[in-house]
Amino acid sequence: MTINPEPAIQNPMIDLRSDTVTRPPEGMRRAMYEAEVGDDVFGEDPTANRLQETVATLLGKEAALFVPSGMMGNQLGLKVHTQPGDEVIVERTCHIFNYESGAPGVLSGVVLNVLDGEGGILTVEQVRGAVRAGYYWESPSRLLCLENTLNKAGGIIYPLDRLQALAAEARAHNLRLHLDGARLWNATAATGIPEKDYAALFDTVMVCLSKGLGAPIGSVLTGSKDLITSAHRYRKMLGGGMRQVGILAAAGLYALEHHRPHLAEDHAKARRLAERIAELPAFSIDLATVETNIVMFDVAEGGAMPVLEALKAEGVAMVPFGPATIRATTHRDVSMDDIESALAVMHRLFAKTIVA
Ligand SMILES: *Cc1c(COP(=O)(O)O)cnc(C)c1O
Repeated sequence: MTINPEPAIQNPMIDLRSDTVTRPPEGMRRAMYEAEVGDDVFGEDPTANRLQETVATLLGKEAALFVPSGMMGNQLGLKVHTQPGDEVIVERTCHIFNYESGAPGVLSGVVLNVLDGEGGILTVEQVRGAVRAGYYWESPSRLLCLENTLNKAGGIIYPLDRLQALAAEARAHNLRLHLDGARLWNATAATGIPEKDYAALFDTVMVCLSKGLGAPIGSVLTGSKDLITSAHRYRKMLGGGMRQVGILAAAGLYALEHHRPHLAEDHAKARRLAERIAELPAFSIDLATVETNIVMFDVAEGGAMPVLEALKAEGVAMVPFGPATIRATTHRDVSMDDIESALAVMHRLFAKTIVA
């Protein structure tokens, strides 16, 4: 069988905007082409079932559900744990609060109790202080949602001992726990701590296949059989019942087998990028925060936009993350050579900028 390879150069940009910009390589497309499929609304798609079993096993959970996006996985996580009027404790920089279109209020009718962590990380005392006493005029605290790695905080890994302490505190107050593990794979690649050791602390865990793993579409929500049965019903209610979805699940399985073992390479690229950005006086960067595949740095003068525009004109794309903050994310479609090219551009453009 031959598959037409995609055109060699679709986009000459060195695209560091996100790890979601990857395109499926030929082997993945072949796996999608060859996937055995069936109608998943009838539960008859063998490839989707295999993906769900594979991810459930990896995360040490009873069951798993394939969903089209990480956001749907998170929102189903909120939905299965809460009743309208309940309160969900989150950290201010989290994806659920910042980038999910207000869905917790609309889809689950919950109130978010937003805490200010340090670098996205909460303390036990903060969670203890946020739990409602139980008066009837309060919204009852029901769920604690955490994120690992922390996206907006720069790809930082939530330390396992802190997660354990937070989970113990949450359990002491009968809270449920949901993990937004969009990049949990990166935490494991960096620390060597198996995904299931993180997942064991949570009732539900969402993981993305479409970030650093490089699948075109798809995330997975994992949990107990009962919780996933409930999530399955709500997925259908949201219009997320899919038919021959094994075409997509095959990409996820391919990503887990062939791409997951290489995530540490993305971290090495991010480290190289960060270390040479640190040499430029036009920027400030805290190298200690570069733990995985995300690099955040501040522009000393003039804000992020002029820098981003100058870089874009030279074929390097990054994104603003605040008025004077820039985020660059490494992934499997940028090589170490691309990183060196991007750094050459940055050093040429910004080496002479003197901090005022
Ligand atoms: C990307 C991301 C999501 C949501 O994923 P989508 O598939 O884009 O909906 C959720 N949480 C975090 C931390 C993410 O980075």
